[in-house]
Amino acid sequence: MQYEAPTNLAEVVALLASADGHGRVMAGGTDLLARFATGSHRPALLVDLKHVAELMEIEQRGDGGFTIGAAVCGAAISEHAGLCSAWPGVTEAMDLIGSVQIQGRASLGGNLCNASPAADSVPALIAAGATCRILGSQGERQVPVADVILSPGKTCLAGDEFVVSFYLPPRAPNSGDAYLRLIPRSEMDIAVAGAAVNLTLDDTGVVIAAAIALGAVSPVPLLVPRAAEVMLGCRLDEEVMRRFRSVVSASCRPINDKRGTIDYRNHVAGVLAVRAALIAARRAGQEDI
Ligand SMILES: Cc1cc2nc3c(=O)[nH]c(=O)nc-3n(C[C@H](O)[C@H](O)[C@H](O)COP(=O)(O)OP(=O)(O)OC[C@H]3O[C@@H](n4cnc5c(N)ncnc54)[C@H](O)[C@@H]3O)c2cc1C
Repeated sequence: MQYEAPTNLAEVVALLASADGHGRVMAGGTDLLARFATGSHRPALLVDLKHVAELMEIEQRGDGGFTIGAAVCGAAISEHAGLCSAWPGVTEAMDLIGSVQIQGRASLGGNLCNASPAADSVPALIAAGATCRILGSQGERQVPVADVILSPGKTCLAGDEFVVSFYLPPRAPNSGDAYLRLIPRSEMDIAVAGAAVNLTLDDTGVVIAAAIALGAVSPVPLLVPRAAEVMLGCRLDEEVMRRFRSVVSASCRPINDKRGTIDYRNHVAGVLAVRAALIAARRAGQEDI
């Protein structure tokens, strides 16, 4: 396996184009190297992304939104005060991944492009309305994170494309997001279910914008517009949250496996979504909830 560590985007593009579909990018390697160790097919060319500046920066843009390089590690994301304050749901989702050692390597780009149904940062990015900048030999495109994963292990990226960065839009006043997951033990495990909620309230606590995304309860992370509709135009009282929970649970399409049955996953997703919505509302300034 040929290893290359380019230092700019043009070199990454050229290397992947020259590999004719047999190249693979690596960010933290926390998924990729683990797979090689268990005998997965090794690409002819491995392109290390961690030496390219654009892939390793977090920047607040003029419009108030944030650009996060696709290879920035979880620890750097958690240490960015501005990002944590604007998008606590996204940063807490990334922070849940692995251990201290994994946090020093693992990236948002790797979490997304590994295309696991249970990837923790992906529902939070989807609920946040994040887009990603994708680059390849045919040029550049912006794609909503919600459209990247096509099926378990498969993304919409061509063989010579890679994610350069994520864009999180500017926050409206009275906005908050949150991500919660359940795992069978206290850390270092894969989610039974995960729920991300992103809300904007008006001055009276009425929800004026909402997005809900779920992880580990369908083949791909799931945006649930029907659940958002339940909250729109309402304060988050008991009756609204009861309806919200039942729509979330009914929207799941999980499998039975050793981490949980279908019924259990449906139930847990509903409970987590309610709790995440209440945290998001508090973060949006609704103190009395
Ligand atoms: C002990 C342990 C615990 C873990 N715990 C969790 C957890 O709690 N939650 C969770 O969601 N995951 C967990 N993971 C999985 C993994 O750490 C995450 O998915 C991580 O975010 C992957 O990022 P990475 O940078 O290491 O990806 P890599 O391993 O470098 O890459 C993963 C895949 O994405 C591709 N890729 C990487 N970057 C890009 C890019 N910029 N553009 C296009 N393709 C790209 C690679 O080619 C590869 O196919 C865990 C892993 C381990 C080993």
